[in-house]
Amino acid sequence: MILRLRQQVYLDNNATTALAPGVVRVMGKVLRGCYGNPSSSYRHARDAAEILQVSRQAVAVAVGTVPERMVFTGSASEANNQILLSCAQAGLACGRRVIVSTPLEHPSVMETLVHLQGMGITVLFCPVDSQGRVVLEALESLVNEQTMLVCCMLANNETGVVQEVGQIAALAHRHGALMMSDCVQALGKWPVDVLALGVDFATFSAHKIHGPKGVGALYAKEGAPLFPLIHGGLQESGLRAGTEGVHNIAGFGEACRNVPNLLAASGRIATLRDRLAAGIREIFPEARFNSPVEGCLPNTLSVTFPGCDGSEAIGFLDYHGIGVSAGSACNTQANAPSHVLKAIGLSDEEARQTLRFSLSDQTRGRQIVYVLAVLRDFLERRALPVTMIRPAQVDENLLFSESVFILDVRHGYDRKLLKGLPNAHETSISILKGNLDLLPRDKSILVVCQGGMDGAGVAYFLRSKGFKNVSFVMGGVLGWKLFQPALYARYGDKNKKTWVMKP
Ligand code: PLP
Repeated sequence: MILRLRQQVYLDNNATTALAPGVVRVMGKVLRGCYGNPSSSYRHARDAAEILQVSRQAVAVAVGTVPERMVFTGSASEANNQILLSCAQAGLACGRRVIVSTPLEHPSVMETLVHLQGMGITVLFCPVDSQGRVVLEALESLVNEQTMLVCCMLANNETGVVQEVGQIAALAHRHGALMMSDCVQALGKWPVDVLALGVDFATFSAHKIHGPKGVGALYAKEGAPLFPLIHGGLQESGLRAGTEGVHNIAGFGEACRNVPNLLAASGRIATLRDRLAAGIREIFPEARFNSPVEGCLPNTLSVTFPGCDGSEAIGFLDYHGIGVSAGSACNTQANAPSHVLKAIGLSDEEARQTLRFSLSDQTRGRQIVYVLAVLRDFLERRALPVTMIRPAQVDENLLFSESVFILDVRHGYDRKLLKGLPNAHETSISILKGNLDLLPRDKSILVVCQGGMDGAGVAYFLRSKGFKNVSFVMGGVLGWKLFQPALYARYGDKNKKTWVMKP
């Protein structure tokens, strides 16, 4: 492997973003000096209420509406839940029992739709093409006078594909249905104007635009049905009870004031993203690009690397200080492949071979050069410092070998779901880091987690700390159970130890 200085490169900005310095300043000021409850009536309270007012104005301006139409929530997930439940309730009352959506929505929409089916709502999913775009003719055939709501995100978090929400809203309205759009990923990366889009509802999240976590907002057009999820107070015009997180809302407002600058940076970000894509194409011509060239967020690149395991790639990149995300969720069923990637035609295996790179205005050209160099090392399999063990290889010889120290780094709740490998030493990743001197240096260390991703990360971490012989179980305990069901049944959890920590 070529010797190069390790850098920290964060390319997972669709998951969350770093706080902008201006946001930190504004929030610090509020946290230090403005503790009043905005619902009270004396001076301290009025100061807090004023912060809510100016922040609401800033968020409203960023999305093209007036402050009266915005409701602050605890997250965009909450906002999505509130709108869907409100529409379902209104729909059941007026006999429109159908919601039409897409197979690409965020889990806060998908899982709420499943919940609504239990309440008597029919949910229909519109087909999308191979780039993930809603097929408008197919949508037209699904929407009718039974439809209460059409729900379609503006931009997708995994591939970055942008939908024709304006046209979809017009189609919904032609049939007397309402239109909701999750605009979380679009804000700050793509122009968002709720009036121009013609939507009845839209949702936003502060932490995707360099604001704080734990605050979201929804837009509801005047007259659109909206009911509280949380009862017990008159905050947010009676639509969300609970004393407002004034510092978070202030941070959200400040982040929204910066949206024009983020949009102005999108050309530069797209150039870096395209440089990354071109570099990948050169290193690995078989790579498949899941993000469309046109009509895509400027910062997002989803790539499938045939023949490469995504969780191992993430561990290797992490070892080199690079944060990206995978096309599968490690802690659910055996590396559950992303529903978005499956909806655009990827197989389970291809989804597990997929990485998502998401850039921000803080990404620099030299970071892209570094990421490409590290990717090249990985893809050309140059001197990989840890060994990936396939679950089928985890047999009795390995499990009961005197020279192997099995380290189980699963979370406590995962251990309740599945039994672990026999002879495993259970620990948590955070405790492990402060107790490395207790790990045997004369044995080979086999790291196992629930789905494979944490295990790869820990294995590369141990290698960076000088442990010579480190491996991890690909697919984790889930993979082992799947490929070695007889061993799982016979030896699962046998002779496991809670790894002794320093007193
Ligand atoms: N919608 C989309 C498209 C997202 O990407 C996310 C976050 O990942 C959310 C909703 C949920 O946002 P929050 O973290 O504020 O609940």
